[in-house]
Amino acid sequence: MAVRTELLKNIRSVEPYVPGEQPQEKVIKLNTNENPYPPAPGVQAALDSLDPADFRLYPDPTSSVLVRSLADYYGVREEQVFVGVGSDDVLSLCFLTFFNSEKPILFPDITYSFYKVWAELYRIPYECPRLDGDFRIVKEDYYRENGGIIFPNPNAPTAIYEELYFIEDILEHNRDSIVIVDEAYVDFAGRSAMELIGKYDNLIVTQTFSKARSMAGMRIGYAISNPDLIRCLNDVKYSFNSYTMSRAALICGAAAVKDRKYLEETVRKIKETRERAKKELVDLGFELTDSQANFLFARHPRYDAGKLFEELKKANIYVRHWEGKKISQYLRITVGTDEEMDVLFDFLRKQLF
Ligand code: PMP
Repeated sequence: MAVRTELLKNIRSVEPYVPGEQPQEKVIKLNTNENPYPPAPGVQAALDSLDPADFRLYPDPTSSVLVRSLADYYGVREEQVFVGVGSDDVLSLCFLTFFNSEKPILFPDITYSFYKVWAELYRIPYECPRLDGDFRIVKEDYYRENGGIIFPNPNAPTAIYEELYFIEDILEHNRDSIVIVDEAYVDFAGRSAMELIGKYDNLIVTQTFSKARSMAGMRIGYAISNPDLIRCLNDVKYSFNSYTMSRAALICGAAAVKDRKYLEETVRKIKETRERAKKELVDLGFELTDSQANFLFARHPRYDAGKLFEELKKANIYVRHWEGKKISQYLRITVGTDEEMDVLFDFLRKQLF
């Protein structure tokens, strides 16, 4: 039965974000930028300590164990840390909390496609300055009047990282706007903008446990900023859903944060594989950006990316491909283990030559 037009006129209609596939069968999964290695060993012990009898109780709404562990890790005050169900949850609440101007918010034309979805969902006006011919953000495009700014660093899906002077320049030119730097992939790149938090009261930095910490399935993300902006974010969170983080996520997350060495070791392995993968792909004739993330953004001048994507899929190798005008000839390939990447390279070698 079709919904009548009288009803439709008051229904919010949105074009949703399309997440990458999560196939149930075993495939070489290089399509959603997950980490191929398990989380820190302490996470198992944390899980073992869970008592299902406690599940009848709500979790701590302040998420204090996790907030405390992140505050200790970064050397900031607990009042400077906000946690949520993945950085998608944190970012979505940031849009709701901080982007309430009549002026358009700004984010790059090629970037994390969820930004546009949230802007539409919350009816926030937005403009999308173009990346340059090398897929880099043009910082001067962010000097104009705006209702807020958000971009990932490294950017996605381009994988390009900008140094801190670049971020600082955007902050300097936007003292009266909130600037959100989405650092989902920063562990694979360089310095984090977190060190600028004390200097710029308009800066919010978000990160996630989904990539470098190998915990996409636990759904943990966080924002670090000054206590005033974190308080505003918490006020909106408590107006929306007080108990966002499950008991399991809270204690597993806190356990993962304790193991700095494990994180560094996992990141080192992924960066090593990434650098080898860049060389292999160049040898195969691909052109790619200088990725500083845990994925590669690559095109082959002689092979249609859409076709290659389908052929890879038939061979049970999943990568990501979008139809967007400027990026339709590119594939985004997550960096897996060396063994997984070898399966990809062997397939490409046979397919392309
Ligand atoms: N930001 C960027 C740039 C991303 O690519 C992703 C992952 N899709 C996210 C945020 C959200 O990740 P999560 O919700 O798993 O923390």
